[in-house]
Amino acid sequence: MTKLLLGPGPSNVSPRVLEAMARPLVGHLDPAFLAVMDEVQGRLRGLFGTQSELTLPLSATGSAGMEACLCNLLEPGDDVVVGVAGVFGERMCDVASRIGARVTRVETEWGTALDPAAMAAAVARVRPRVVAFVHAETSTGVCQPVAAIAARARQQGALVVLDCVTSLGGIPVTLDAWGVDAAYSATQKCLSCPPGLSPVSFGPRALERVRGRSRPVQSWYLDVTLLAGYYGAERVYHHTAPISMVLALAEALRIVDEEGMEARERRHREAAAALLEALAPLGFEPLVATEHRLPMLTTVRLPEAVVRRGEAALRRELLQRHGIEVGGGLGKLAGAVWRIGLMGENARPACVTRLLAALRDLL
Ligand code: PLP
Repeated sequence: MTKLLLGPGPSNVSPRVLEAMARPLVGHLDPAFLAVMDEVQGRLRGLFGTQSELTLPLSATGSAGMEACLCNLLEPGDDVVVGVAGVFGERMCDVASRIGARVTRVETEWGTALDPAAMAAAVARVRPRVVAFVHAETSTGVCQPVAAIAARARQQGALVVLDCVTSLGGIPVTLDAWGVDAAYSATQKCLSCPPGLSPVSFGPRALERVRGRSRPVQSWYLDVTLLAGYYGAERVYHHTAPISMVLALAEALRIVDEEGMEARERRHREAAAALLEALAPLGFEPLVATEHRLPMLTTVRLPEAVVRRGEAALRRELLQRHGIEVGGGLGKLAGAVWRIGLMGENARPACVTRLLAALRDLL
């Protein structure tokens, strides 16, 4: 049975993407492969809404994208303001403090959106080098107000770092219009590609900052000035690009572009609305207020019947008897919510129908 992946990622992958992964290998410096790399970088620029040349599929998962953005822009002793609204904001704090940066946290209750005024006040007080936060917080299902936070951070001269792991390919991302200087994503969510690559983008202000560092980036592998050798015009060896993953991503991006972001966003929103409508009679209620809700990841509070039965046991049964994966709560929300992803290929009414039938059977 093909499992239906309705958790917080990975999502299911199109047969076209699987076929791309199975193609015979070519060399990573073969002109035919470099043409695919050009195509991938171009399509990623389009999806990220940026003109930035240094936009590339980093050879690692989303967490390495986070690490790459922070370790290139921060040096020990630098100040960074992080919006913390869930697990992945917390992870940013951890990564930044390991770099030796001084971290100022601006928190909000899990399930609510960051307050742009509170972020702006912290930025005005600290005058940080970097302001970092998550666009689509996968642990809570909240969409954060990017434009308002980024504009005020920029006014104070800070660089803006944005996590687009769960948003890219599901809702519009417009880095240049928002004034975001560095961003990262991952392939396994709304791009519907297996995990393994982290699309990242570094804008001109970010690169200027990296060139002006007082010491080299601590990580050799993630240093964008070195990565630029292979992912820029020269195409010289840095590390061996994961060829099959790049072929898969190229196919996944073609699928996204064939559909177009407008239609894709609409499809995600319609699927999320259908999901909530279907779950309401069973007693599942949304955690997040309508205006801050993500379409690709819905967080629902659990009805009494599910809590009594044991939510983890029920998820296990869903997987074993019906082949459907949904996510449990993370961190503070463990045991209290389910996270249901309708991402990329899975943002379709048929997925909602299959989940609902399985839940009715089990409950
Ligand atoms: N940021 C967000 C918002 C995520 O949802 C995730 C993974 O779920 C990550 C970062 C880390 O990505 P990865 O698990 O691909 O390393």
